[in-house]
Amino acid sequence: MPLPREDCLFCGLVADGEHVHSADGFVAIHDINPVAETHLLVLPQRHVDTFKEVAAFPDDEAARMLRFVSETAKVAGLENYRVLVNVGAGAGQTVFHLHWHVLGGRPDTERIARALAETV
Ligand code: 5GP
Ligand code: ZN
Repeated sequence: MPLPREDCLFCGLVADGEHVHSADGFVAIHDINPVAETHLLVLPQRHVDTFKEVAAFPDDEAARMLRFVSETAKVAGLENYRVLVNVGAGAGQTVFHLHWHVLGGRPDTERIARALAETV
């Protein structure tokens, strides 16, 4: 597995964070600034900048990642949820270590409005 990037926040959380779920090269953590009742982030353990790199993933790794996202929602007890990836700064990506947002329950609309206001 490639070395973690010393300057990467999420490489740090992979190595030393509170993991809600962990398996098969992936971890799930709570988002520090949740915009829904349940807001988890799924990260590959190895450093990958963005979703664009998924095109070069071996097929089995891409399949395992999707399975892990689905398992994470199940582990969190979510029946209904959204899965979202921001790809690139222009689309709202702020941390350049690939991550999937898993959002369940009531959205925190005030927080979403504040977050949107910060990006315009
Ligand atoms: P992005 O905007 O890149 O799609 O998502 C980055 C996410 O990382 C945001 O939802 C933000 O709240 C979350 N985040 C930023 N810093 C930290 C942190 O130190 N710990 C955790 N758990 N989440 C973070
Ligand atoms: Zn990283």
